[in-house]
Amino acid sequence: MKDHPSLKHPISDLTGFGKHRALVLSQEFGISTVYDLLFQLPIRYVDKSKIYAISEISADHSYIVVKGILANLRRVGSGKGSRLVAELHDDTGVLELVWFKAPEYLLTSLKVGMLYTAFGKCTRFGDRNSMAHPELKRVNSLNAIENSLGIEPIYPSTEKLQKAGITQKIMRSTLSKIVTAVDFSILENLSENLLKQLGLPNKTNALRWIHAPSSLEEVYKATQRLKFEELFFLQLQLLYKKRIGQQKIQGRKFERVGELFLAFYHKHLPFELTDAQKRVIKEIRKDLGSGIQMNRLLQGDVGSGKTMVALLCCLIAVGNGSQAAVIAPTEILANQHYADFKRLVEPLGIKTKLLTGSTPGKERKILFDELQNGALSIIIGTHALLEDKVVFYDLGIAVIDEQHRFGVAQRSKLWQKAAIPPHILVMTATPIPRTLAMSHYGDLDLSVIDQMPPGRKPIKTEHRTDSSRLKVFAFLKDEIKKGRQVYIVYPLINESEHLDYKDLMDGYESIAREFPPPHYQISIVHGGMSPEAKAYEMGRFEKGETQIMVATTVIEVGVNVPNASVMVIESAERFGLAQLHQLRGRVGRGAEQSYCILMSNNRLSNEAKTRLEAMVTTQSGFELSEIDLQLRGPGDLMGTQQSGVLALKISDLTKDQDILYRAREAADQLLSQDPELEDPKHYGIRYTLNRILKGNLLWSYIS
Ligand code: ADP
Ligand code: MG
Repeated sequence: MKDHPSLKHPISDLTGFGKHRALVLSQEFGISTVYDLLFQLPIRYVDKSKIYAISEISADHSYIVVKGILANLRRVGSGKGSRLVAELHDDTGVLELVWFKAPEYLLTSLKVGMLYTAFGKCTRFGDRNSMAHPELKRVNSLNAIENSLGIEPIYPSTEKLQKAGITQKIMRSTLSKIVTAVDFSILENLSENLLKQLGLPNKTNALRWIHAPSSLEEVYKATQRLKFEELFFLQLQLLYKKRIGQQKIQGRKFERVGELFLAFYHKHLPFELTDAQKRVIKEIRKDLGSGIQMNRLLQGDVGSGKTMVALLCCLIAVGNGSQAAVIAPTEILANQHYADFKRLVEPLGIKTKLLTGSTPGKERKILFDELQNGALSIIIGTHALLEDKVVFYDLGIAVIDEQHRFGVAQRSKLWQKAAIPPHILVMTATPIPRTLAMSHYGDLDLSVIDQMPPGRKPIKTEHRTDSSRLKVFAFLKDEIKKGRQVYIVYPLINESEHLDYKDLMDGYESIAREFPPPHYQISIVHGGMSPEAKAYEMGRFEKGETQIMVATTVIEVGVNVPNASVMVIESAERFGLAQLHQLRGRVGRGAEQSYCILMSNNRLSNEAKTRLEAMVTTQSGFELSEIDLQLRGPGDLMGTQQSGVLALKISDLTKDQDILYRAREAADQLLSQDPELEDPKHYGIRYTLNRILKGNLLWSYIS
C-alpha cells in the first residue's frame, strides 16, 4: 500500500481547520500536513463502549463505565482534607468511589440503594478498586444499558489549541473521518511476513484503530504495532550501520591464542575462572581471530573479575607479537591495574610500564622510546595514553576501563594509533540495563559477566538515620577493634569544590573527635588534592597504617583494599543508585563479612526512599540498574547523550522490553537473510531505512 496522495495536503485544506488553526497546530506540535496529523497519537482513551463488571477492572484500564448499587455514602475527615466516599456494588465486586473537595449537594442528591452507572478512571491498590471523581448517573432497571458512545481517543492539547477552538471533538471527528475513508491507505513499511509472524496489524489498519477504535483490543494491537515499528527501525538502523562498519574495518587477525596465554593460563592463573569469565573470554577470543576489528563492551558488576579477562586478552595480543594498552579513568585506578598486571605477567618475562600525569619526564622519554621500538609490551595508564606523543610500535588491543568516562571521540583517538585499528575492549562496572545497552551501544558487541567469583559473602546493607549515628560509630569501633578498616564517603553536594571541601572537612572534624589518635588513624582523600598527596593517603590506608578513610567520591572507582569491611555513605539520599552500588563495591573484597551503611536524615522524597530500599534489598548491579531505569527514565540515566532512545515517541524502554527484544531479533534476522534489503518484499523497510540513514526522517515520522 502507498500513502494516499491527499495525505500530503496541508491541514488548512481540511474542514474545520482554517489558516489560523493550521498555524497554531504547526507552532504547537509541528504539524503541517494531513500525514503529520495522523501521527498525532491519542494520549489515552475513554471507553464508553460497554459496561464493565467490577471484577474486570485491571490496573491499566482507561476511563470506563461500571454499573451497580450505591452504598455506604459518607464524608470522611474534616476541613480541607475531607472527602466524600461511597461504594458501588455489582454481582462481581465492590468499587470505591471518592470525591475530593466534593460539593455539598452530592451528599444529599445521591441515593443509597439505587442503581447507578459510574464513569471515570479506575485505579487499583492491591485488591481494592477505586474511582476518583466519577460521573454518576441514575439507571432505571437492572437491564437498562446506557447508550453506547464507543471509545473516544483523547488527544494532546495545549492552552493555545484550546483558545483556537481546536477541541477534542474536532480532533476526533477529523481524524476519524480521515482514517475511515474507504480509500485511506498508508505506505506499509514492514514486510507482510513479519506482520504475519508477529500477529501485528498492517499500518493502515493500525492507524485506523488508533484513531477510530471499536474496542480497546484494537487500540492495544495498534499500539503494539506502532511500538514495534519504532523499535524495529531503531535496531535495524544500529545493526545495519554496524554491519557496514564491520565490512569496512579490517582488524588484525590473531591466529592463535599464543604461547604466553597458554603458559599463563595453565601455570600462573591464581584462581579458577568463573564460567562467566570463561564464556566472555571465548567471545573475545573469537573476535580477535576473526580479522575484523573488535568493538566490544564488557559489562560486569564490581568485583566480578573483569581485570583478569582484560589481562588474558592482552596476553593474546602480546603472544601474537603485538602490544596492549590499558586505559583507566583515574590515576589511582591506573596504579592499581599496573600493580596487578606487573605482579601477574612479569614472571612470564613481559615488560609492563605505567604512564600517568605524574610520570616524570625522564622516565617518559624512555617509555616513549620503548613503546615505539616495541621493547615494551603492555602499557597501563590514564588519558595520558591518548596524547599524540604516544606512538606505538604495533598496538594490537586497547582495553578501556570504566566506559562511562570515555566518549566515542576518545575511543576513536586510539584507532589512529595503528595502521590497522587495534581491537577495542571497553569495560564497565556500571551495569546498563540491557534495553539501553542494546539501543545506545548498538555499535558495540556486548559481553556480560553475570557471576561473581565463588566465596563472596553478600554485603549487609542497612539504612540508618542521623539519630542512630552514635550506634553506627560504636559499630565502626567494634569493626576496627577486630582489625578491619572503614570508608566514610561524602557526596559532592555543591557544584563548588570549595563548599564540598567544607562539608567534607566538617565531617572529618567530627570523625576525628570521635576517633582520636593515637588509637585511631585517619586518611583523607578528596578531589582538590594533588595526585601525589592522594596516592600517599591511599597508600597509608592500603598498608593498614590508617583505619579510617574519609573521602569524597574520588574513591568510587577501583580502589581495592580487601581488609576494608565497612562502607559508610553520608547523605546517601543524594547519590544515584549506580553510584551507591559502585561505592558499596569497595567493600566485600576480602573473606570477612562486610557492611554498607547508608546514612540519611529523616525526611526523604519517595524516590530517595525507593532508592535506599532497593540498595538494602538488592545486591545485583543489574537489578539495580533496571530499578534506576524505572525511577529515572532512559534520558536521565544516560545523561544528555544524543541518541535514538531519547527520541522514542511511543515506546517506553522501561515498559516495552519484550517488544524491544522482538524488534532486535527481527532486525537481526532480516539483515542476515537480506543484508541489503534488495528483495522486493522488503521495499517498504528499505525505503524507511534509507530515509533514516539519510537523516531526513525524524523519528516521529516513522511511528
Ligand atoms: P572488577 O570486575 O570490579 O574489575 P576485579 O577484576 O578487580 O573486579 O576482581 C575483583 C577481585 O576478585 C580481585 O581481587 C580478583 O583477583 C578476584 N577474582 C577475579 N576473578 C576471580 C575468580 N575467578 N576467582 C576468585 N577470585 C577472582
Ligand atoms: Mg575493575
